[in-house]
Amino acid sequence: MSTSLYTTLDERFTRLTLFNAQLDTLWTGARWTEGPAYFAAGRYLVWSDIPNNRMMRWDETDGSVSVFRHPCHNTNGHTIDREGRLVSCEHQSRCVSRTEHDGSRTVLVDRISGKRFNSPNDVVVKSDGTIWFSDPTYGIDTDYEGDAAESEIVASHVYRYDPARGECTAVTTDFVKPNGLAFSPDEQLLYIADTGMSHVKGGPRHLRRFTVGSDGRTLSGGEVFATCTAGWFDGFRLDVHGNIWTSAGDGVHCYSPDGTLLGKIHIPEIVANVCFGGPKRNRLFICATTSLYAIFVATRGCR
Ligand code: MG
Repeated sequence: MSTSLYTTLDERFTRLTLFNAQLDTLWTGARWTEGPAYFAAGRYLVWSDIPNNRMMRWDETDGSVSVFRHPCHNTNGHTIDREGRLVSCEHQSRCVSRTEHDGSRTVLVDRISGKRFNSPNDVVVKSDGTIWFSDPTYGIDTDYEGDAAESEIVASHVYRYDPARGECTAVTTDFVKPNGLAFSPDEQLLYIADTGMSHVKGGPRHLRRFTVGSDGRTLSGGEVFATCTAGWFDGFRLDVHGNIWTSAGDGVHCYSPDGTLLGKIHIPEIVANVCFGGPKRNRLFICATTSLYAIFVATRGCR
């Protein structure tokens, strides 16, 4: 069934969405929005406007939007660590940074084996405090979203960084352009998007699913979990039931853990990333090209 707001492909989708919810346009005016992250304590959301080299802030208490940081080293994806600190992927400085409680910025990691990263794209923090991030080349391909440069690593991997030990290791090395990533609620699985079709004709536009080893630090498997049916998957998040809410070319697509495309939320612009937020974590915030959208859903984000 299809309405102006939803396409329902599986009956389970009707229990995850609200028939009487509206799509809210919270703000527009960016060149390319990315990296939403919700701060429950402050009741605000930050996100990136990458080409404009700024981070924006939406205040849940009054709906106002302001510039959070400018310039910001062309940040892309963000997340919040277990201590409530902002962790950011930065294109221009080619690093993963952390904003401390006093507001200062710490570069956590910007190279491996002496080689600079390409342009960290998206990031998640595991419950053990380790930081997992993707490193495609979008921020060094041109000057539009960072500074054009050659890749020093000459490949695009996904890394695990342990801030307690200062150790960084590649956890997967067979992606074309790794992009969004997220753990299942129990952290037994890690999903990673490959947007390789941006650089390779007929290249990947799928999500892969890995099994996290019993050591909590290595991956196995990596089978294709879902191939995008409209554009490509960029950033995504999971709800408490393990359903995947992912960006796509025509909106937000929702997959069950068994790989079934349950349905879509139609968004009038290409979606780059999403996150759950609000005091109940039952509102999906959607970064889509020039705008920030939101919609209440009938589930909660797992983190
Ligand atoms: Mg991305």
